[in-house]
Amino acid sequence: MASLSLQHIDKIYDNNVQAVFDFNMEIKDGEFIVLVGPSGCGKSTTLRMVAGLEDISAGKLFIDGKDCTRLPAKDRDIAMVFQNYALYGHMTIYENMAFSLMLAKEDKYVIHEKVMAAAEILGLTAQLNKKPNQLSGGQRQRVAMGRAIVRNPKVFLFDEPLSNLDAKLRGSTRREIKLLHKRLGTTMIYVTHDQTEALTLADRICCMSMGHVQQIGTPLELYDHPKNLFVASFIGLPPMNLFNLEVKDGKYYVEGIEADLPDRIVKGIKDSGKDKFVLGIRPEDIKLGGDFVIDVTLNENTGHFTLTHGKLFGKTSCAKFRHWQNFEIGEKVNVSFDEEKIHLFDADTTDALI
Ligand code: ADP
Repeated sequence: MASLSLQHIDKIYDNNVQAVFDFNMEIKDGEFIVLVGPSGCGKSTTLRMVAGLEDISAGKLFIDGKDCTRLPAKDRDIAMVFQNYALYGHMTIYENMAFSLMLAKEDKYVIHEKVMAAAEILGLTAQLNKKPNQLSGGQRQRVAMGRAIVRNPKVFLFDEPLSNLDAKLRGSTRREIKLLHKRLGTTMIYVTHDQTEALTLADRICCMSMGHVQQIGTPLELYDHPKNLFVASFIGLPPMNLFNLEVKDGKYYVEGIEADLPDRIVKGIKDSGKDKFVLGIRPEDIKLGGDFVIDVTLNENTGHFTLTHGKLFGKTSCAKFRHWQNFEIGEKVNVSFDEEKIHLFDADTTDALI
């Protein structure tokens, strides 16, 4: 188990591409941290610098208070689980899990105990004599985790471990990883581009874009109080609806349509002294009944909720209603907004204002 301190870390690759800019984060012992963001935002590079697989160009990395910035990967006591499992095809599952301990010349009885214990935790006991190609994708990913567990590392790193699994297995394996963390209590850092994985797994999320940290916080903090437009639109599915808002001659225009706004928003506008904004409304914060109108273009019933797509203030938007709603294409549905949940962003800086 370990705490980590990442201080002012930059990564500049040999071709002068800067992948990570001034990354700062304090990670507590036993925390589950998820680095999330779109492809190319620098998540894997950050993880690989923690692992020691990439040099740190500037800044410092401390593990349990010890400066590990230049420490070779093999001396960091960190285990990494990759998306492609990287199992040895000619070895049995047992041998795959035992391999690193055998290399370390661990006693064979100790190895046996550790492999059997990890297999038990991961439900792989009946598969130990099989070869990787006899296992499903989900089982193979569990073997990859087993290989990490037997080493009893200080920190687990996961690089998009669920990407190669189908949707159903992704869900069940995700839950297994969460339970594994509860059981082992080891510090984990997990990289994904999938905001659902981030929200469901993390104690704290670090959301990144173009090499820069955008926000660090609990899943609920990022969901309810996104710091800027990037986080607001990246976290949440379907994404937050965004509308341009302008103030002209003391009147408010949403996508060019004059509208009355709640006092809370009006106060935010006045306090900022600005005149161009973006309003954000999550699909579930749109309520049936009210003075605003959605011009329905598509209605999707999923059983326990309905996604109603249509034009709101003339802009394609999505509302999420409870239960089964039967709206026809072309139907005009009256709606209102949960006023406490409306977000206001500065159109220039993209920062949240309230
Ligand atoms: P992510 O994991 O968020 O998808 P990466 O950390 O893999 O992003 O990549 C971040 C940026 O660094 C990208 O622009 C990518 O092209 C670049 N990059 C990654 N690896 C290398 C490398 N070995 N050499 C040069 N540029 C790289």
